[in-house]
Amino acid sequence: MNGECEVDLVSDLTCHRCAGELVCAARVPHSFARADGHRVTGSRTVGLCPRCDRDSPAAAAVIAYFTAHGTARADTVGDLAVALRAWLTQSTVE
Ligand SMILES: [Zn+2]
Repeated sequence: MNGECEVDLVSDLTCHRCAGELVCAARVPHSFARADGHRVTGSRTVGLCPRCDRDSPAAAAVIAYFTAHGTARADTVGDLAVALRAWLTQSTVE
């Protein structure tokens, strides 16, 4: 357990809230302890929707990146990583 957030970008998904097209989705590690103390690990997919998430400043930064660049590009991926981290931190705390 090193606290690193491993992010896989997933494309071509639709929003489960409004059925619109997602800007991106990230698969993030997810683990929780059951009542008996057994630890269950897996992953879950967090979608970023330009409509449903527009009120979130952290999501807006990620949306702005994809609006500007279209996709994750090697020369600017550092900017994306910062924005994604902020967004995921917020998304997974809920
Ligand atoms: Zn949506």
